[in-house]
Order: sequence, then structure tokens, then C-alpha cells
Amino acid sequence: MATAVVTGGAGFLGSHLCDFLLAKGHRVICLDNLESSSLANLEHIRDEDFVFVYHDVLERIEIDEPVDLVFHLAALASPIDYLRQPLHSLKVGSYGTHNALGLAKWKRARFLLASTSEIYGDPKVHPQPEDYWGNVNPTGPRGVYDEAKRYGEAMTMAYHRQQGVDTSIVRIFNTYGTRMRPYDGRAIPTFLRQALEDKPLTVFGEGAQTRSFCYVDDLIEGLYLLAMSEEHLPVNLGNPGEFTILELAETVIRITGSKSEIVREALPVDDPQIRQPDITRAKEILGWTPEVELEEGLRRMLPSLGREPVNV
Ligand code: UDP
Repeated sequence: MATAVVTGGAGFLGSHLCDFLLAKGHRVICLDNLESSSLANLEHIRDEDFVFVYHDVLERIEIDEPVDLVFHLAALASPIDYLRQPLHSLKVGSYGTHNALGLAKWKRARFLLASTSEIYGDPKVHPQPEDYWGNVNPTGPRGVYDEAKRYGEAMTMAYHRQQGVDTSIVRIFNTYGTRMRPYDGRAIPTFLRQALEDKPLTVFGEGAQTRSFCYVDDLIEGLYLLAMSEEHLPVNLGNPGEFTILELAETVIRITGSKSEIVREALPVDDPQIRQPDITRAKEILGWTPEVELEEGLRRMLPSLGREPVNV
């Protein structure tokens, strides 16, 4: 049995990862400052191998026991959060990642950096392989998140190359599932909330921009496989199924049986127009492929929102 530290463990992905690790029989130390997450995501856990520590990753991380794995997920990952707190976003990505890497070095643990498809910005290569360097605007509003993650990747590789820390980097593409906050501003929880209230679905721009959505269970499996591997270079994890945002809105209306209409709102600055992961490396190195299709994943979310899917 390994002991894993999960930073950001009370968040959407972090809490699902804690569940997964506990189910595998590991001990889990969950660190979170509850800035953009909630203890409600952990309240179902009844396991003596689970510890919650209220901690801000901007402070040095002290843990008084051996640690085998450090999953560094803490970040202001939703546009609504990082646009509201741009300086904090940069600090979490820099000092926060430095502190998490420091813990892995001290404990001689395997380290996993949760990086992002935002590394690629508004890509000029499609789908995006890991050796594409991206097209990010450093001074635009999204730069505080994108550049913090790019810096985090550079720092992770430096700890590995210079000091021999056993590191890994996952570039996570859009992921969805239960426990997303209904007001976190992301397309899927927003559209589901609007549809269930029969309110208009707010599609930004023409809705022709694309995203590739991965169900949370598939993603968590991939994170674990990467942590268990010996890979050090970045690996994309995401579902290659690509949809326009308009298609997503129409699917949500259909499966909820909602009477909502679709309205257009202004396209955010630097909103990437296309996004689709090339997952060749994840398949080859980890033997990983996502299994849950978008419509099935959306249907799985509905009971947690108090609704059964409509059969059409
Ligand atoms: N989006 C939208 N309406 C919303 C929220 C988001 O049309 O109410 C669009 C957004 O402009 C983007 C896509 O949906 O093109 C995905 O946005 P999200 O915030 O979910 O993820 P990210 O932009 O980080 O990929």
C-alpha cells in the first residue's frame, strides 16, 4: 500500500482521485485550502486511511510520515476563478508547484503535475500532440493560467533533470462529471444547470468553437496509470471525440428534455477555437483509451442533479 498526497484533493478532479486511490487500497493525505473546492466533495468518505489537511500550497508542505506519490492538482482551474484572481493563479502555479515538488524531493516520492491542454493555447496544429509547443498569448487574460502551467512544466522538468526527482506531467483536456460546481462557469455544468431550470443556454460566439470532453472516471484512471508508469515527458489525457459548443448545447437540451432555447453571448477574449487531444502516447505508454462517450457521460451526471435522463 502506497501513501499518496493529493493537493487540491477537495476539488472536482481531486476528490474523484482520492476516491479512486482509496478504492485501490492506498493511504490518502488530501491537502486543500477550499478556495475553489468544498468539503462536501469528501463528506461521503469513511476510511481510516484518509486524512484531510486544511493547507494552502503557497505555504511549505510538512508531512510527518513517508510519502510515495504526490499528485499536484491544486490550481484555480476554472476561467471564472483565475480571471477573478489572476495574481493568485500565477502564485499557485509557481510557488505552489515549487512547494509540491519540494515535498516529492524530500520524500523521494513520484510526482505528477496536473498540467493542461491550455498549454497549446489556440492551436495551429490539430489534433494536438505533446511535441506541439503551442500558441499562447502571455499577456491576455488567460495568460495567468496558461503561463503558470507552462512554467510549472518547466519547473517539473528542471527538478527531474537537475535533481533526479521522479516526475511526470499530464496535460488534461476538458473533463466533466459529478461534483463540478454549477456556477463554475464551465460549459457543461452551466448548460446542465440552465437546461434543468428551463432557462436559456448561453452559447458564446457562434458556438462553432470545439472542445473534446472526457468523462471524469476515464481521466482518473489515466492519471493513476501515468503515476504508476516511469514516464517523465508530458502525456495528453482526454477524449478525442470533438464537438462544437453548439452541438454540446443541443445534446444537453435533448437528454434533459428541457424547454430551454439557445441564446448567443459575446465570445471571451482568446477563447481557443479548436481543441482535440492526440492520445497516441497515452495509448502506447499507458495502454489507456477513454471509454465513456459524451452523451453517456452527461446522462451519468443527471441523477446527482436530481433528474433522470430522457430517453430520446
Ligand atoms: N462556453 C459557452 N457558454 C458558457 C460557458 C462556456 O459557450 O456558458 C464556451 C467557452 O467560450 C468555450 C467552451 O464553451 O469555448 C468551453 O468552455 P469551458 O469554460 O468549459 O472550458 P475551457 O474554455 O477552459 O476549455
